[in-house]
Amino acid sequence: MSTATFSEQEQSVVDRVPTQLYIGGQWRDATGGGTLPVEDPSTGETIADVADATVEDAVSALDAAVAAQPDFASTPPRERAEILRRAYEALVAQADDLALLMTLEMGKAVAESKAEILYAADFLNWFAGEAVRIDGNYKVADKGNGRVLVMRQPVGPCLFITPWNFPMAMGTRKIGPAIAAGCASVIKPAKQTPLSMLMLAQILEEAGLPGGALNVVTAKSSGKTMEPLIKDPRLRKLSFTGSTEVGRELMKQASEQILRTSMELGGNAPFIVFEDADLDAAVDGAMLAKMRNVGEACTAANRFHVAESVADEFARRLAERMGALKLGRGSEEGTEVGPLIDGTQRDKVAELVSDAVGKGAKVLCGGQADGDRGYFYKPTVITDVPENAQLLREEIFGPVAPVKGFRSEEEAIAAANDTEYGLVAYVYTRDLSRAFRVAEALETGMLGLNQGVVSNAGAPFGGVKHSGVGREGGNEGIEEFLETKYVLMAV
Ligand code: NAP
Repeated sequence: MSTATFSEQEQSVVDRVPTQLYIGGQWRDATGGGTLPVEDPSTGETIADVADATVEDAVSALDAAVAAQPDFASTPPRERAEILRRAYEALVAQADDLALLMTLEMGKAVAESKAEILYAADFLNWFAGEAVRIDGNYKVADKGNGRVLVMRQPVGPCLFITPWNFPMAMGTRKIGPAIAAGCASVIKPAKQTPLSMLMLAQILEEAGLPGGALNVVTAKSSGKTMEPLIKDPRLRKLSFTGSTEVGRELMKQASEQILRTSMELGGNAPFIVFEDADLDAAVDGAMLAKMRNVGEACTAANRFHVAESVADEFARRLAERMGALKLGRGSEEGTEVGPLIDGTQRDKVAELVSDAVGKGAKVLCGGQADGDRGYFYKPTVITDVPENAQLLREEIFGPVAPVKGFRSEEEAIAAANDTEYGLVAYVYTRDLSRAFRVAEALETGMLGLNQGVVSNAGAPFGGVKHSGVGREGGNEGIEEFLETKYVLMAV
């Protein structure tokens, strides 16, 4: 397809991206030369063609990680920290170009892409600090008849599989701690958004990462190429970010080799507004929690539970703000909302809205797709959502906010917990006792208290229930990449 609509600046950014596989420190084509097109979701045009790895290529990537593992594990921690630190600085220095590239492949407005690049860079910076603080302990055995020395060692070769919605940050949350801990890895980004990850690999290479310590495999067929690696006895850890459905399947595969697993899966975040909340702050927070990443975030507020006394006013103000947002190509000046990732995602959002409307919900703004090119859906607020509407159960993954009233704190908590997911919840209240009661009662891994975004490299990101196992970021993040071994010494 023609690339005629790309500006000179866009084309020059795309031209810098290495499009081959990165294996053992070498850039090379896929065996047989197969490629996979990457599309601009705002126009449907092809941006670039990247290598389409075969199973043989994927196994070569694991071979390279396995070969690199012993030397990488024994690199001085300060050296690994410095690699991370240099890569962090490069990401920050190149943030504008990297943001434009991300917008081209993923769609979101360029300011949002830039925020993601800086967030992604934060993980490299954070784990640069962690690399030199891996410790163990020494203690007298409880009966006094020996000494216990506890050491922490890298888990070993890892496989990372990441989604398209945060093409860079979902990678650095895994790669950062892996490098810090001394684990060599293979990463497979989503087929819709491989370009950001390929740029990251180049940046890490330039920052001094030894060949084989990170290998990048891009592939059309994720199941076929990844299963042999997950079942390979040399792999020691699988870290996956994506849907609960795929995560469940990968956990089954990982059971064969009893792999360490980290699973960052889907969400269905409740956003609770109590009658004592600062309504202006709640609407500001709702805009962030709903509209960040065009609603395509695992942390996106999926259901708004609002005290009945303020529900109509909250919905009216939210609809006013959402309805005024400017849709457009992410790289165009003034764009606030980009397209959804593809036609399937847009159609799924449209179906969820029409299911709710068919069951009696009212549309305050939006409620339909937009334009005849790309995959746009209008920011939408709906009220009077019936209990049996599908969008209260499923991850919407789009710019749609269903608002539902509640009568009591107990009812709000019960409604918020009525889901198999448990990634994040948002609570707006000015009552401190209530804030603690509700925080303790909600079944969630994270909570935004009078706060519409929780993502922070220094905090342990992760969920409970079907939202996954394990934590990324914070002091906990590196634990996922370390094994504990003890030596009991006779004295
Ligand atoms: P997805 O369909 O589960 O895909 C995620 C990744 O898994 C992609 O790289 C995909 O590759 C790969 N994949 C799909 N099927 C596979 C298989 N059988 N074997 C091995 N790999 C496979 O999810 P998505 O649609 O990209 O992302 C959206 C989901 O991610 C949402 O549910 C969202 O909540 C979740 N998410 C969670 C977090 C978190 O931290 N909890 C963060 C971001 C997103 P291909 O695309 O190349 O097929």
